[in-house]
Parts: sequence; structure tokens; C-alpha cells
Amino acid sequence: MAQGVMKDILRNLVGKSCSIQTLKQTSQDLKPQVVVLTCVEATAGRFLFSSLQHDAVVLCSPGNLIPHSKLYGREVLGSEVASMEWACSQGSLEHVIVCGHSNCQILDVLGKSQIQSASDCRSSPFLSWLTQHGNSTLTRFERYEMDRLQPITFQGISPKELWDAYVDPQCHWTDQDQFSQVNVLQQLQNVSSHGFLKPKLKSGALQLHGMWLDSRQQLPYLFSKEQQRFVQITDNNIDSILK
Ligand SMILES: [Zn+2]
Repeated sequence: MAQGVMKDILRNLVGKSCSIQTLKQTSQDLKPQVVVLTCVEATAGRFLFSSLQHDAVVLCSPGNLIPHSKLYGREVLGSEVASMEWACSQGSLEHVIVCGHSNCQILDVLGKSQIQSASDCRSSPFLSWLTQHGNSTLTRFERYEMDRLQPITFQGISPKELWDAYVDPQCHWTDQDQFSQVNVLQQLQNVSSHGFLKPKLKSGALQLHGMWLDSRQQLPYLFSKEQQRFVQITDNNIDSILK
């Protein structure tokens, strides 16, 4: 049997009692300031945020999807929402970052309608997750495709609080990238639907951010609500981009 990877893991653990002691201390002191939701296939994203250590909780899901609150009581929500509520309950949470990425193979499955039938979903937790939680992105994108120059309107913490996003006014991105960016924005709406976050979002104590990593050009982007689009993050615009 191929045991190479598991042997490497066990070898790494041997003699690491120091690190395990640190883990014990860390878990006692954990007061996360940041929750990052990234795609399960985006190893680069996990690596970037691992430098935040105990200030951040990094959650991974297929397609960086997070369930909308309307699914409470009707569907299995998965652990992402539960983890987010726990992080919020620790009292120090200031930022939630939804991080998408280019060349997302998981969203390709959703976007190319490779999900053939209900029986596919019943036999596959992965396809079931994608159809339940990715359908809102799919619907958004289909509407957006009818007129790509128009902004897409998303909802904040209430139906009265709306914000607009232009996805690709300069025709720079591939369809696949546009789909992934729309997905990040849709997940921001899903995150803000959860009641346990709303008081902090309303007071401004908690901020939501949409991030997108372009692995081809190795460039990071952040959605700017002021500019209503994803903006490349540079040394010079870090202050202004967060307005
Ligand atoms: Zn992905």
C-alpha cells in the first residue's frame, strides 16, 4: 500500500512536543480577529493566510461557498457557518474575508452544468453541496450575461441595504474568472444574511471583504465598495482600497 504521505506526516510529528505544547497554549488564547473563507483547492490562499496564525480562522469549502441563512432548519449547513459563529462568539472578530481564485476547477463543474441529474446529487455530497449553495451564483451569472456592462446589485444586512458591483467593465477577464468573481460577491451577501453577524456589521465593528487571487499573474485583488469593482492591491492603495 502507498503509505508514503502518511509516513511523512508521522515523521514530522515525532519530536515535535514543543509545537504540540504551543498548540495547547494557542487554543486557550484563541481570540480570532479574522475569518477567511477560501476554496478547498486553493492551496496558495491557505498558505498566504497561515501567516496570520492564531489571529485568524481559515475555513475551506468547495468553491469558497457559504450557505445562506435561509437554509436554516431545512438543509445541513455544513461546518463553515458553525465555525464562523464560534469565531464571532469569541468577541474579537473584526474582519471576514471571502477569498476566491482564478482557474477554479470546482466552480467550473457548477458553471458548465456538469451536474446531470438529481441522482448525481444524491450519490455525491460534493455535487449536492455545489447545487445547494452554488445555485445563487449560477442564477446571478446568467442574469449578468444578458448585459455585462450593467452593475449587479447585491444585498447587505437588510433588503434596504443594497450595493452594486461592476464585474468586468474593461473586458479583461475570462468567463471563468468573471464567474469566480461574481461568486465571491454572492458569498458576501450570504455571509451578511446570518443573524449572529448582523449587530456587529450594523455597528461597523465587523467588516466583510471580497478578495480574489489571480494565480496566472500572481496578483491579489480586493473588492472596493467605493469603486464598485475588484481593484488590484498594491503598496500604494492599501489605505484607499479599504474605504
Ligand atoms: Zn477553487
